[in-house]
Amino acid sequence: MTRAPLNRRLVGFGTTIFAEMSALAATTGSINLGQGFPDTDGPEEIREAAVRALREGRGNQYPPGPGVPELRTAITDHQQRRYGLAYDPDTEVLVTAGATEAIAAALLALVEPGDEVIALEPYYDSYAACVAMAGGTRVPVTLRPDPAGGRFVLDLDELRAAVTDRTRLILLNTPHNPTGTVLTREELAAVAALAVERDLLVVTDEVYEHLVFDGAEHVPIATFPGMRERTVTISSGGKTFSFTGWKVGWLTAPPALTAAVRTAKQYLTYVASGPFQYAVAEALRLPDAYFDTLRADLEGKRDVLAAGLAAAGFEVYRPRGTYFVTADVAPLGEKDGVAFCRALPERCGVVAIPNAVFYDHADAGRTQVRFAFCKKEAVLREAAERLARL
Ligand SMILES: *Cc1c(COP(=O)(O)O)cnc(C)c1O
Repeated sequence: MTRAPLNRRLVGFGTTIFAEMSALAATTGSINLGQGFPDTDGPEEIREAAVRALREGRGNQYPPGPGVPELRTAITDHQQRRYGLAYDPDTEVLVTAGATEAIAAALLALVEPGDEVIALEPYYDSYAACVAMAGGTRVPVTLRPDPAGGRFVLDLDELRAAVTDRTRLILLNTPHNPTGTVLTREELAAVAALAVERDLLVVTDEVYEHLVFDGAEHVPIATFPGMRERTVTISSGGKTFSFTGWKVGWLTAPPALTAAVRTAKQYLTYVASGPFQYAVAEALRLPDAYFDTLRADLEGKRDVLAAGLAAAGFEVYRPRGTYFVTADVAPLGEKDGVAFCRALPERCGVVAIPNAVFYDHADAGRTQVRFAFCKKEAVLREAAERLARL
């Protein structure tokens, strides 16, 4: 074989830190706060809805390409009820194999080779790989801790300066993984104004739309003037309903954008998760109490982990959304988050993820590490105790 098997676009995307850290968790018997999946399944009645769909033969054969009508309607009702956003379930919704496929299909469909894609760093790991697969060039704009408030903020001048004649789209993520930042109305208004001014598309990953704390408000960028027509809004049932294995995601966008993304999507999975689509349709119609309880529960878990990290000597950036907390290891005398995370399981039996892997400018995140708090409270308390040994 004279040529390396992996094509040039994907060189550098070989192994993810998650595999390495999960393996370390297993061999050392550590508490795994690396990967972001809940250790408790979602609502029993939604599991039962999936069982019923399976038994009744709904979704056991290829569902319709755009998604089953029950789910598409539940999605448009949800967008209307929550955000006042009206979408047509027949032409403006696409059900995907998780948000992951929606992101991949959107980038493959909307990006020409050579187009620039602006993404907020630290960024979710699939963004870089999907921009690369689409032949695009990623242009990171760095979120930085606000010296005043301890939250990560978007520098709007930096964002503006990142736009060039080759910019095709802004890939947004709010609430933001891994920093836990929820972009404010002011920040979003500025991003929206820039997108309109420079005629850019926006692809926005809002999978944590329901996981916001301290009274923070999630505002979809599609609600801003001039944005509905240029925005692809992506979400998923995985995080909201604690069924990350079901892989039911979706997007809402105007007809031309939806049709474009569907063109790519139909040749990726074509369709997925048949019976689970019916169950997620029911989940989206759960009463507000479900969403309120989920939020309150996670907020309490955030507090347990954040307090434990602070007591152990980390600088903690208190997240207002998602189920991750980013902490800085510099106050512990540490200089490198990757080395710190590699040693942590041996030192005290906890696994975390170094944020440096989510950056192009790795120096910006050199001493940051990410912990997931979507775990049972007892597990978080045990992790806090172990971290206190540092
Ligand atoms: C978990 C996650 C996803 C993937 O969602 P799936 O529905 O499981 O594919 C996408 N974006 C972000 C920011 C995530 O954290």
